[in-house]
Amino acid sequence: MPKPLTDQEKRKQISVRGLAGVENVSDLKTNFNRHLHFTLVKDRNVATKRDYYFALANTVRDHLVGRWIRTQQHYYEKDPKRVYYLSLEFYMGRTLQNTMVNLALENACDEATYQLGLDMEELQDIEEDAGLGNGGLGRLAACFLDSMASLGLAAYGYGIRYEFGIFNQKIVNGWQVEEADDWLRYGNPWEKARPEYMRPVHFYGRVEHTPEGVKWVDTQVVLALPYDTPVPGYRNNVVNTMRLWSAKAPCDFNLKDFNVGGYIQAVLDRNLAENISRVLYPNDNFFEGKELRLKQEYFVVAATLQDIVRRFKSSKFGSTEVVRVDLSTLPDKVAIQLNDTHPAMAIPELMRILLDTEHQTWEKAWDIVTRTCAYTNHTVLPEALERWPIDLFQNLLPRHLEIIFEINRRHLERIANLYPGDHDRLRRMSLVEEGDQKKINMAHLCIVGSHAVNGVARIHSDIIKATLFKDFYEVDPHKFQNKTNGITPRRWLVMCNPGLAEVIAERIGEDYIRDLDQLKNLLEFVDDDSLIRDIAKIKQENKLKFSAYLEEHYKVKINPNSMFDVQVKRIHEYKRQLLNCLHIITLYNRIKKEPNKNWTPRTIMIGGKAAPGYHTAKLIIRLITAIGDIVNHDEVVGDRLKVIFLENYKVTLAEKIIPASDLSEQISTAGTEASGTGNMKFMLNGALTIGTMDGANVEMAEEAGEENLFIFGMRVDDVDAMDKSGYDAMEYYNRIPELKQAMDQIAGGYFSPDQHDLFKDIVNMLLHHDRFKVFADYEAYIKCQDKVSALYKNPKEWTKMVIHNIAGCGKFSSDRTISQYAREIWGMEPSLERIPPPTSAFTSGYSTKKINVNLRNGLKTRNLPYN
Ligand SMILES: *Cc1c(COP(=O)(O)O)cnc(C)c1O
Repeated sequence: MPKPLTDQEKRKQISVRGLAGVENVSDLKTNFNRHLHFTLVKDRNVATKRDYYFALANTVRDHLVGRWIRTQQHYYEKDPKRVYYLSLEFYMGRTLQNTMVNLALENACDEATYQLGLDMEELQDIEEDAGLGNGGLGRLAACFLDSMASLGLAAYGYGIRYEFGIFNQKIVNGWQVEEADDWLRYGNPWEKARPEYMRPVHFYGRVEHTPEGVKWVDTQVVLALPYDTPVPGYRNNVVNTMRLWSAKAPCDFNLKDFNVGGYIQAVLDRNLAENISRVLYPNDNFFEGKELRLKQEYFVVAATLQDIVRRFKSSKFGSTEVVRVDLSTLPDKVAIQLNDTHPAMAIPELMRILLDTEHQTWEKAWDIVTRTCAYTNHTVLPEALERWPIDLFQNLLPRHLEIIFEINRRHLERIANLYPGDHDRLRRMSLVEEGDQKKINMAHLCIVGSHAVNGVARIHSDIIKATLFKDFYEVDPHKFQNKTNGITPRRWLVMCNPGLAEVIAERIGEDYIRDLDQLKNLLEFVDDDSLIRDIAKIKQENKLKFSAYLEEHYKVKINPNSMFDVQVKRIHEYKRQLLNCLHIITLYNRIKKEPNKNWTPRTIMIGGKAAPGYHTAKLIIRLITAIGDIVNHDEVVGDRLKVIFLENYKVTLAEKIIPASDLSEQISTAGTEASGTGNMKFMLNGALTIGTMDGANVEMAEEAGEENLFIFGMRVDDVDAMDKSGYDAMEYYNRIPELKQAMDQIAGGYFSPDQHDLFKDIVNMLLHHDRFKVFADYEAYIKCQDKVSALYKNPKEWTKMVIHNIAGCGKFSSDRTISQYAREIWGMEPSLERIPPPTSAFTSGYSTKKINVNLRNGLKTRNLPYN
C-alpha cells in the first residue's frame, strides 16, 4: 500500500488546483528570518519552537495589515450600513491556519517553513486557542465573523478580552479538574491594543433629575481598553475587525476621596476594577446571577455603544452635511445584533444616550432603538434565561433601572389597551417579575426593544412562538423570524479536512467553498465507485491520524478499523450523554453474553466540559470514565468496544476529531437543543448522524433525506403529550430487561467497585426526577444503534449514505445564515465581490496627500475617522 499523503502534501495538491494562491516562498523566508531577528530578537542557535511559531505568525500577519487598513478606509469612503455583532463570547480557536487559508498563503508557507527545516503543523500546534466561549453560542459568533467578512459586510464583532478563557479540563482519577486558561502568557500576535481609543464606563452612583435633564452622578469609572483582531474574508481582500474590551482602572482609581495614606491600598485595589475582564463565566445554557457578570455585560455594551455612536457621527458625510448632527438616521446606518440576552443592556444604554446626552424625546429615542436592535434567542431552558434581581440593578445601574421601568410602563400600557382586564397577561408579559425578590426578565426586554427576534433553527423558532414567547408573538407576529444556524466551511472543511475538501473539488470544482449549495452537485457521483473509494480512503486516513494523536498525547491505543462513534459537546443533562452511556453498557452486556457473535467493533468517544458548579454534569464525566475503566480492561470484550473520554474538548480538538468520526451523536430530548452546530460539522466531514428530531437535526434530515440519517425517539409532540400524561421512568425500568440490567449495574457499583453508591445521584435522578426522559427514548435508541451497526458492515452503502449527507450540507453554511440575517434583519446586501487589494505594503493605496495638505492648511483631520 502506498504511504498516505501527509496533510502538507495534500495541501500542495490542492494548490495545484488553485485552492491556494502562489506566493513568493523566498519572500516568506526572508520575512520569517526578519521577524525572528527583529521581532523575536533571536538567532537560530537559541530560538525555541515557540519563537518559530511567533516568527511565522508575524510573517502571515504582515499580509493582513494592508488589507485591514484598506478595508477600513473603503468603509469610510463608501459609508455602507454597519452591523455590530455584540456577544459575551467569541470562541475563535486558533488563527494562524485560518488566516493562511483565507489569504491563500498555506501552500507557500508550508514550502517556506519546510525549506527552513521546520514543520508547519508542529508550529501550528504551539498556538493557544482563543477560548473566549463556552460552546455553540460562542463558536457561532466566530463562524459569523468569518462569513460576514467573506460576504463583504461592514461588520464588527464586539466583546470582552477575557484574560482567562474557558478553563482547561484535566481528568484526574476519572474526575474533571479545572485549570486556568492563561492563553495570553506568551503574548497574542493577532491582537493590536488601541490605548488611544480607551473609553470610560460608569457604575454605581445615583440619579439626579434636574431642570437641565437627568444626570447619573457620583459614579465609579472603569476604562475600557480596546484590542483589535483582524478578521479576513475568504480570498476577497476584506479584513474586518473584532474589537474586544479589556478593563483598566483609571490612574486616579480610589485616590480621589480624601484617602489619606491609602495610596498603596488604592493601587492594589486597581485589581477590583480590572477584574471585570478577568475571566469568562464557564456556564453553558445556565444563568448565574453574579454581580461581576452583570458588570461584564454592561461593560461591553457601554464601551461598544460609545464606539458605535462616535463612528456614526464622525462619518465622512456626517461632518460635511447636516445628516449626522442627531441620531435619527442611526437605524439606516447601524444594525446591532444581540447574541442572546447577554448584551441586552444595549437597549437601555442606547436609550440613556439618546435621552440624557442627545436630549431626544422618549418617542424618538425608542423608535431609533427598536429599529436598530435585533435579538437572537438561543435556548428555551428556563434555567438559562437571564433574570437579574432588581436590587443588583438598583445598586449598579440605577439610571438603567429607571429606563427599564419606563419601557415596561409603556409596554404594559399598550398590552392593557389591547387586552383590557387581562391581568394575568400583564403579569406574564411584564419585564419585571414579581416574587420573593423582583427580577428583570432580560428576554422580555430584548423582545420589546427589538424589531426582530429570531430562533436558531426552524423547530426552535416555532417553539418560541408557541410557548416561551407566545404572548409576544400574539401582539407582534411580524417581529418573529427564523435564522437556522450554520458553520463556516473554511474552518470546518478546508482547514480541518483538506483531503476531503480536495476530493470534493476534484469532482465539482472549488467554488463550493464560497457557495456551499454546490455540494448538491455531488449527487451526480453518488454511485461513482471512484468517489466512494476516495471518500472512504480519506476517512480512514483521518482515523489513522487521530489514532496516532491519541496514542501520542493520551497514551491510549484504539482500533482504527472500529466505528468511531463520537459525542462531543458540553456535558449537560439535556444533551443526554447518559443515554449514550446506557447504550455502551447495553453493548457491553451483549458482547459478554455472546462473545462469539459478529459484533461491529466500536470506539465510543465522549468529550466535553462540565460547568464547574454543575454537580450532575461532573458526575456524568465520572460515570463515563468509570465505564471505560471496566469495559476497556475486559479481556472478553477486547477491541470490539472501547470507551474513551476525550479530555479538554475545545475548538482545536473538534478540528481533529470530527474529520475522523464515523457516527455523530445528536441525541438531546426533542425540544431542548435550540439548533446545535456540532451536528453540522460532523455532517460536512462525512460522519452519519444518529439523532432525535431536535434543533437543526430536523433540517439536516430534510436536506439529506430522512432515510440518510438515523432518526429515533420522541418528537416534540410526543414529549409534550408525555408532559401532560406524566413520565414514569420506573415503568420503563421494570419493563425493559436490558435497561434494568444496566441501571442495576450502575447502582450496584459494577462500574465503581471501590464505592458502590458513587453514582447514586445519577441513578436517583434517572429513576425519579429526570426532566429529560432518558428512559423514554432508550428502546428506540438501542434499536436505531443496531441499524447503525448493521449498515457499518456494508462499507459501500455506508459511504453512499455519507455522500448523500455531504451533498445535503449546503444549507448549513454560515454564509447562508448571514445572508439571511443581512437581508431579512439588517437591511444589508451581501456580496461575493472582492475589494481592491492594497497597492503597496506601506500606503495601502489611500492618498495621504490630501491629509498632508489639510494639515498644512491648518485643518485638523477629523477625529479618528476610520477606526
Ligand atoms: C461546535 C462546537 C460546540 C457546539 O457543539 P454542539 O454539539 O452543537 O453543542 C461546542 N464546543 C466546541 C469546541 C465546538 O467547536
